[in-house]
Amino acid sequence: MPSMIHRLQRIVQEVNRAPDIDSALVLITESLTVDLNADACTIFLAKKDDPDVMVLQACNGLNPDIIGKVELRKGEGLIGTIAARAEVFNLVDAPSHKTFLPVPESGETNFPVLLGVPVIAHRDVLGVISVQRAKNAFNEDEEAFLTTLAAQLATSIERAESQGRFSVQKATHTIKGVAGAPGMAIGEAMVLNRGVKLESVPDKKTGDIEAELHGFREAVRKVCDELTELAETMRAFMPEEECALFLAYAQMLSGGSLIDDTEKGIKAGNWAPSSWRDTIEQHAYVFEQMEDSYLAERANDIRDLGLRVLRKLMLEQSPYLDFPEKTILVGDEVTVTDLADVPADCLSGIVSAHGSSSSHVAILAHALGIPAVMGVPNLPVKQLDGVKLVVDGYSGSAFINPNRSILREYSRYLEEEAVIEQDLSGLKNVPAVTTDRHLVSLMVNTGLMSDYTPSLRSGAEGVGLYRTEFPFQVRDRFPSEEEQYLIYKNVLETFQGKPVVLRTLDVGGDKPLSYFPITEANPFLGWRGVRITLDHPEIFITQVRAMIRANIGINNLEILLPMISGKTELDESLVLIKRARDEIEEESGEKILLPKIGAMIEVPSAVYQIEDICKLVDFVSIGTNDLTQYLLAVDRNNENVADLYSSLHPAVLKAMQQIVQGAARSNTPVSVCGELAGDPLGVMALLGMGIDTLSMSVGSLLRAKKVIISFSQVELTDLLQQALAMSDAFAIRQMYATRLDERGLGGLIRAGK
Ligand code: PEP
Ligand code: MG
Repeated sequence: MPSMIHRLQRIVQEVNRAPDIDSALVLITESLTVDLNADACTIFLAKKDDPDVMVLQACNGLNPDIIGKVELRKGEGLIGTIAARAEVFNLVDAPSHKTFLPVPESGETNFPVLLGVPVIAHRDVLGVISVQRAKNAFNEDEEAFLTTLAAQLATSIERAESQGRFSVQKATHTIKGVAGAPGMAIGEAMVLNRGVKLESVPDKKTGDIEAELHGFREAVRKVCDELTELAETMRAFMPEEECALFLAYAQMLSGGSLIDDTEKGIKAGNWAPSSWRDTIEQHAYVFEQMEDSYLAERANDIRDLGLRVLRKLMLEQSPYLDFPEKTILVGDEVTVTDLADVPADCLSGIVSAHGSSSSHVAILAHALGIPAVMGVPNLPVKQLDGVKLVVDGYSGSAFINPNRSILREYSRYLEEEAVIEQDLSGLKNVPAVTTDRHLVSLMVNTGLMSDYTPSLRSGAEGVGLYRTEFPFQVRDRFPSEEEQYLIYKNVLETFQGKPVVLRTLDVGGDKPLSYFPITEANPFLGWRGVRITLDHPEIFITQVRAMIRANIGINNLEILLPMISGKTELDESLVLIKRARDEIEEESGEKILLPKIGAMIEVPSAVYQIEDICKLVDFVSIGTNDLTQYLLAVDRNNENVADLYSSLHPAVLKAMQQIVQGAARSNTPVSVCGELAGDPLGVMALLGMGIDTLSMSVGSLLRAKKVIISFSQVELTDLLQQALAMSDAFAIRQMYATRLDERGLGGLIRAGK
């Protein structure tokens, strides 16, 4: 008998492979009847339009005519009670239970022993799975098995349901994620291929079957040649059996069913990548089914081979030379580098299955003024290529195949937004002063991509945060001192006369470097930011030297240190910065002043050491993105917990207040450079705290200014006191939003006026 984990895996895999929800449900009922030695199995699922009603969707061992006909409200009958209570029922005599309702013609009275478990995903009861027997109670192991399976299947069922429903290509479909970057767009979806994963290859038709076949054969031939060559070279280092694997791969590509099946798919009008994907999936599945673990492992070889050919196909075909005029980038995980692929004038919106508002891609979208919806569970990525989409980056929703009324509504919103933008553009040269004359300094965050024109035109008073990571991420090695020197000189010169805060390298976490791989179980708690650069002084010194050299004759540089978690890291960083300065002084024979140095306050321990930190630096800058993540223990990129992520959480507000008060004791200036600084509601809270320097995406600057000139500091101080007395983030957001609405500024945070 295969172990429980294998049986579970097998069922989940089968369900994930099923072409649609109905076949998935049939598979589950059949497998469970066998695996649990049951006489019958039923699955009820909640109705989409009325989730309080459960409908019988599949059954095995009972009269199949009742499928789709039995409906039970939550709380009604045994099944409805399991759904309402979200609990497992294990009964030896179901008909004698007080909630039992007989279903005539089902035949279930023959099977009084019943085990029923709710299927729950994201707190919603999606349905109930139950198994029944004529006799013999279900034991503890069986109960544990079904409960575990239901928990695992919940996500699969959720996905199968959403994709199944969506397969009606022309129907309007609403998807909900989190608000990634504000704004709206109407455009055409383009599914990304950069990540090159088999499962994210989109379905697509080809208009030129011959060309597609030719491209496929070429890709296969090239991979075959590479594999044969690889086997030859590896012979010197590897045992013969390992080298044989490459030859076996090559063999599989030189004819046979992998090739024939794919060509059949192409001849049926599909483009090569999806045809290849389907063939690989089917073949891998056959191996996975095998109980022999050695043979089951071969599924991985097939997938590995599949990926090799896919990469060739994707890299050598350029199917997207024609970008739709209004391109909405769609992907499982849209990345910062993906954005660089789309010409700036075509990029209109982003929809990503993973990530949240503080993912770096959302931050960049914000800077570019592109609306983004992030973290959409079960996004049917494969089916979206070329489909019309409406993206609402304010509410974090999008509409697939929007109907006429949605299009009309959003066209009107876009017109209204254009009016708001027009109104805002008149604020460029207006000082950011509250109605009771408190001046606020507005700076821009930049560096992810280096187009400084919008920042210069926005009326910003300088660069409050230059993220230096991007030039490191787009190369295949560390940039040299000279390369960095030119990049930094460019930004310092562009903003001459205004402060430019260059942050030292903050890679690790969700900002990997392809040429410096770090594998960690918890990257955000791991080797990141200053922790890496202190361990690699050669990287740190090179960067700081480039910064200080670039500053010669311009003198607007300030250096910011990321991820400072305590005084020691600061001490060590300062020693290295001074060393770099001394070296340059010696080399140039000129007196070089040390630039102002600041620390990011984004790790909770730094909040509690704020006074010690302030003694060592010229300024501090609060990184609300990470501070929120670390204080609330909520991964900033994880859509499963995105609802819990809020920089207006009372704990985050209290921590920030502590920073402001601690820094005030030494008169150390405090600025904020996380996303909260550009959120109109965040601006209200931060001003209430007495913070007067905000650095944000350029796209947020005029909106922030509009908020500043519309309120008095006295009013905002009072609002902050009310916020601090509240116990949850949602209520705080509501309170600020209501006040913004009352001022007629609701259009700054949502679609429409
Ligand atoms: C922050 O954490 O708030 C911040 C500004 O830095 P980053 O988003 O680059 O981590
Ligand atoms: Mg940070």
